[in-house]
Order: sequence, then structure tokens, then C-alpha cells
Amino acid sequence: MIIVGGGPAGIAAGLYAARMNLRTVLVDRGPLGGQLHNTELIEDYPGIESILGPDLAAKMAAHARKFGLDAREFVPVSSIEADGDDKVVKFADSDLELRAPAVIMAAGGLPRKLDVPGEDSLAGRGVSYCAVCDGAFFKNEELAVVGGGDAALEEGDFLTRYASKVHIIHRRNEFRAQPILQDRARANSKIDFILDAQVKEITGNGKVSAIRYESGGRQVELPVGGVFIFVGFTPNSDILKIHVEHDAHGYIVTGPDMKTSVPGVWAVGDVRAQLTKQIATAVGDGTTAAVSASAYVSGVRDLQRTRA
Ligand code: NAP
Repeated sequence: MIIVGGGPAGIAAGLYAARMNLRTVLVDRGPLGGQLHNTELIEDYPGIESILGPDLAAKMAAHARKFGLDAREFVPVSSIEADGDDKVVKFADSDLELRAPAVIMAAGGLPRKLDVPGEDSLAGRGVSYCAVCDGAFFKNEELAVVGGGDAALEEGDFLTRYASKVHIIHRRNEFRAQPILQDRARANSKIDFILDAQVKEITGNGKVSAIRYESGGRQVELPVGGVFIFVGFTPNSDILKIHVEHDAHGYIVTGPDMKTSVPGVWAVGDVRAQLTKQIATAVGDGTTAAVSASAYVSGVRDLQRTRA
């Protein structure tokens, strides 16, 4: 089988597949670990109290390779196509193609960026895209949350567990979020709303100290210890040229066994439609998909033997 994407979901799928003695190739456009490389400290992966993201990435990669996983890094995939019953993976930088009866799509996605000065240079230093991952680092601090969708309101509410105050900054005066999430946020005395406000810059010397926005022609500098950005997330589903069922935002829809609507194609981790995007859930997805895909590959093999 072929696994496209080497974050926690893809690595877990690869580890299990290799351990089940399936010939498996995992390909990733970058180093193994995916978004672990963009995560400073991880404190919510059961059994590991505290670890740096890149260290967990290295441990996961070494663990999967120990079982014989053929994992290839820095090989960007250009497309995943179907040719009869085969799934074919093509690459951007070479004519090589990989062919297998089963493909596990684990290409993840990326939080959409605000594209303001300070966002990149202070990422991991107070700028975050994940409240569950990083909220606990901001006990008793004032925080800014940027966005007006479900994620901004839900995660803003979650952050009040730690923060002394959460300022939700939204570019319009109406929220996109579901009314129930808006009501919950309005009822939370630790949340205040800054509406019709365009974020211009995130500032700080080595660590976030303020967010600057413009509202009604006024420039405001608001001192905060952290800025959480929730302005959408883009799944990397466009390389999958096989038409599988997906939701309105491009997330791939799967069943409980991670099967997509097309036989021989599974989707795991952040690229699939699901409740939360955590390392632990990604690893669970990958495990489920590998077991399901292994049964599928055995079935294909049996069928080929019968035909022969
Ligand atoms: P979203 O619904 O696309 O909302 C993104 C928000 O960010 C919008 O309010 C948008 O403003 C704002 N925004 C976009 N670009 C911006 C920019 N450049 N500068 C400032 N603001 C910007 O994204 P999401 O909240 O991440 O949710 C994504 C999907 O997951 C949705 O389908 C959502 O329902 C789902 N979700 C569901 C739950 C839940 O059910 N509990 C929780 C989280 C997410 P405008 O409104 O002005 O466009």
C-alpha cells in the first residue's frame, strides 16, 4: 500500500502496515512528522508528559522504520489517480510513479494564515493555531483570538480555562459561528469582543507582547501574551484526483474504518472530516486505516490468485 503524508496519522498507518508485513511505502513532501515540526511543546500525548514536537516526530519515524517501513522524505506528490483497480501516486519532481491496490491519504492540511507582520516570526512564541495544544502555556495571561467562525468562538471559550481575559477580534460586526457558540461566548465574563477590527500586526521581542488592529479609523495596540488565530483551515485534499465524497470545506468524508466513498482509498488525520485535530486522534485514524486496508489488500490478493 501507499501512504501519502508522514504526519502522526501517516506514520501510525505505516508502522502498523509494516508490522503486518505489508509492502508499504510512505511518501512526504517534507521531513517525517508533519505539523509536529511546527509545534513547540507537546503535553497532551498520553504517556509522554512533555516533549518537543520535532523530538516526537523523530521518535515516531524511527519507531515505524524499525518495523521496516519504507518512508521517503522530500518527495512532493503531484497527484493520486486511479488506473483500473490500481491507485497511482505521481510526483512533482520525478517521473517515478507508485502503484498499489490501496492508498491511505494522510496529507493533513494547514491552518489559514492572517498574513500580517509578526505572525511568522512569533509563531510558537505566543502565536498559535491550536488552543487545546497551547492554551495551558498562558495561565492568567490576556489573549487575543482572531476570527469569527465556530473555531474562534469555541476555542476562545476554551482558552478562558487558563487566560485571565480573551479578546475575540473579528473583522466584521457579525459572527459566522453557530448561535449556540456565540451565546456561550457572550455568557462568559472573561470574553470580550472587538468587532469591525482589522488586525495589522503582532508585536513582541522574541515573544508576543501586543496585537495591533485598526477599527473605525483608529489604530489600537492591545497588550496580550498570546495570539490564537482561527481564520479557517485548508485540507490538502486537492492532490487526490479520484473523486471521493467530501464536505463543503474540502475535508474527506470517511466511515468509522476510515474508508472513503471509493474502494481502495482511506483518509486519516487532519485531511478528513472529524471533530478534532489532535496527535492522539490522528494516530488512532492511521491505526484503524492500516488494519482496514490490510484486510482489503488480502482480499485483492485472494481474488488475483483465484483469477490466476
Ligand atoms: P470558518 O468557518 O471558515 O471561519 C473563519 C473565520 O475567520 C470567519 O469568521 C472569517 O471572517 C475569518 N477570517 C477569514 N479570513 C480572515 C482574515 N484574513 N482576516 C481576519 N479574519 C478572517 O473557519 P473555522 O471557524 O475554522 O471552521 C471551519 C469549519 O469547521 C466550519 O465548517 C466550522 O463549522 C467547523 N467547525 C465546527 C465546530 C463545531 O461544530 N463545534 C468547531 C470548529 C470548527 P468572515 O466571517 O468575515 O468571513
